Amino acid sequence: MLVVMQQGATEEQIEHVIDRLVDLGFDVHRSTGLIHTVLGGVGGKYDFDVAVFEVMEGVKEAHRIVSPYKLASRGFRPGGTIVQVGPLAIGGDAVVVMAGPCSVENRDQIEQCAELAARTGARVIRGGAFKPRSSPYEFQGLGAEGLQMLRAAADRHGLLVVSEVMDQTQIPLLAEYADIVQVGARNMQNFNLLRELGKQSKPVLLKRGIAASIEELLLSAEYILAGGNYNVILCERGIRTFETYTRNTLDLSAIPVVKKLSHLPIVADPSHGTGRRDIVAPMARAAVAAGADGLMIEVHPDPDRALSDGAQSVRPEQFEELMHQLQAIALAVGRTL
Ligand code: PEP
Ligand code: MN
Repeated sequence: MLVVMQQGATEEQIEHVIDRLVDLGFDVHRSTGLIHTVLGGVGGKYDFDVAVFEVMEGVKEAHRIVSPYKLASRGFRPGGTIVQVGPLAIGGDAVVVMAGPCSVENRDQIEQCAELAARTGARVIRGGAFKPRSSPYEFQGLGAEGLQMLRAAADRHGLLVVSEVMDQTQIPLLAEYADIVQVGARNMQNFNLLRELGKQSKPVLLKRGIAASIEELLLSAEYILAGGNYNVILCERGIRTFETYTRNTLDLSAIPVVKKLSHLPIVADPSHGTGRRDIVAPMARAAVAAGADGLMIEVHPDPDRALSDGAQSVRPEQFEELMHQLQAIALAVGRTL
């Protein structure tokens, strides 16, 4: 903890800050410069709000040196984490592709997606059975029936399953049918849900909230890790900005930033990140080049008739071509696909 006092701060103000730092368990080192007094706090707690110091009388600025998350930080596991999902390693050399429709719609649709995914080298099939839709009048998903279809198609083609959980009551059902449980962007800060997911062992794919900072994403991951579940995969899926051409702005810089700050694997979702199938492929290629451990891509056999997210779902032939391109890019950055 570092507190820089204002020019002319009184001895009383300085002592007051020192007292607060000591209260929090810090060992305080005081340096008196020509203009500013700087207070360095070593050790101590970190479950406090830095703003408390920023607004104290006589304080110019205050900075936390240690990150507010502990288990999610790179320092906790400098070598990085590989999340093992059955035979699949996420966070290792291989870039893992998770592909499938936005929503599970019917048996035929999911079968076609599973066949395509398996044939082209994807390892995980995605598909929502519980859908967080912006409007209550839109298709809400097939629920348990959708999960059964997804599981059956995955098993026929040797794929793993990722599907979204919307609240705690659905965890047992998801745990029964899926290999990876997805927490959607809208639920990234549903702390009760995160806590419950921390108490069970299924790997969790945690998507970044539409208005969440990288630090908030890592703090949400911390909730799951703190419960004892270390199988967390992060997902950059775009954030809301002032740009209107794309549905979201895919923050590719979050990938190397997360790699630096955290040991957790991170995948990119260029489908929700762009909202447009015509630019999913270039952003997918860029994400692999930027160091993503995997991709989540929406693909649909007939996207113009999809019940959700058709505009951002690539056609099967586009997906196939993309998978070929990704092999070369993965190789160029020392990975495999
Ligand atoms: C999805 O994966 O279909 C989804 C709803 O994603 P997000 O939570 O990122 O919007
Ligand atoms: Mn979707």
